[in-house]
Amino acid sequence: MQAKKKSNSSKKKATGTREWASSNVNILYGCAHNCRYCYSKKLAIRFKRKTEETWKIMELNEKKIEKEYRKRQGRVMFPSSHDILPKFKKEYFKVLQKLLESGNSVLITTKPHYEIIKELCFKFEEFKELIQFRFTITSINNELLAFWEPGAPSFEERLKSLKHAFEQGFKTSVSIEPFLDKNPIPLIKKIQSLTSETIWVGKMNYIKTNHLIGKEKRFYEAIRDNISLENITKIINSLKNNKKIRWKDSIKDMCIRNDIQLPSFQTPEVKEK
Ligand code: SF4
Repeated sequence: MQAKKKSNSSKKKATGTREWASSNVNILYGCAHNCRYCYSKKLAIRFKRKTEETWKIMELNEKKIEKEYRKRQGRVMFPSSHDILPKFKKEYFKVLQKLLESGNSVLITTKPHYEIIKELCFKFEEFKELIQFRFTITSINNELLAFWEPGAPSFEERLKSLKHAFEQGFKTSVSIEPFLDKNPIPLIKKIQSLTSETIWVGKMNYIKTNHLIGKEKRFYEAIRDNISLENITKIINSLKNNKKIRWKDSIKDMCIRNDIQLPSFQTPEVKEK
C-alpha cells in the first residue's frame, strides 16, 4: 500500500486511506517490503522513529497485539502503515481474529504473500462476509517491482494470491497505486475477472528529485513520464467505461486542476463502507 496522510480538508473530503476505511489498525513498526515511495516510511524518518536503513526492520508493538478490540464505527483497514509478512503472520491472525469476533468489517490491504493468503482464507472462512481483500498490484513487470518495492512478492505471487482469494469466495479488490507501468491496461486485463469489487488507480505521490545515482535515474524519469498529464489523460480515456475502476484522490485532484471530467461512477462521493 502507498499509505498517505488523512484528510484535513474543511469539507471533510476523504483522501488517502480515508477513502477506503474509517479507521485503521497497525501492529508493527517498519516494513520489510521497503518500497521507495512509502509515505509511512517518510513519516517514520521525519519523526525519528526509523531511519532509511532501519525502516525494513519490523518490530512488534506488543500492546496492540494484546489489547481488546471492540466493534468500531465503519470499516477498519488492517494494516495501513506496514504490510503482512510471513514472519509475523501469527500475530496478525491473532489481532484479525479479535477484530472479526467483535463484528468489525475489515479491509485487508497487502502486497500479498501467497502462504499468508492461503492460510488466512482457510482460517477465517466463517468471517468471509466481514472481509474484503485489497491487494496492491502495481505492475506486471518484475523489474519495476524489484526496483520500487524491493522486499515485496513478484507479480506472479500477487496474482496467484488474488486468484486464490477470489476462488475461495472472498470479496477481492485491487489497488494499482502507484501505477508503475506506463500503460496499466494489460495489468487491469489480467486482474479484472478475479476482482469481485473495485480496482483503484492512483499515481505516485512522492517522487525523489535529488541525489539520484546510477540506474535510479532511469526509473525515476520513467515514473515522471507515466504521470504526465498526457499519459494520465490517455489512461482515463481507455478506462472510461470500466465499471470497476475508481480513481484515487491524486488523479482526481489532477483532473480537477486540468478540467478533465471523470465518470461519476468512478469517483463516488461517499467513501467505501
Ligand atoms: S508495503 Fe510496506 S514499505 Fe511498501 S508502501 Fe506499504 S507499508 Fe510502505
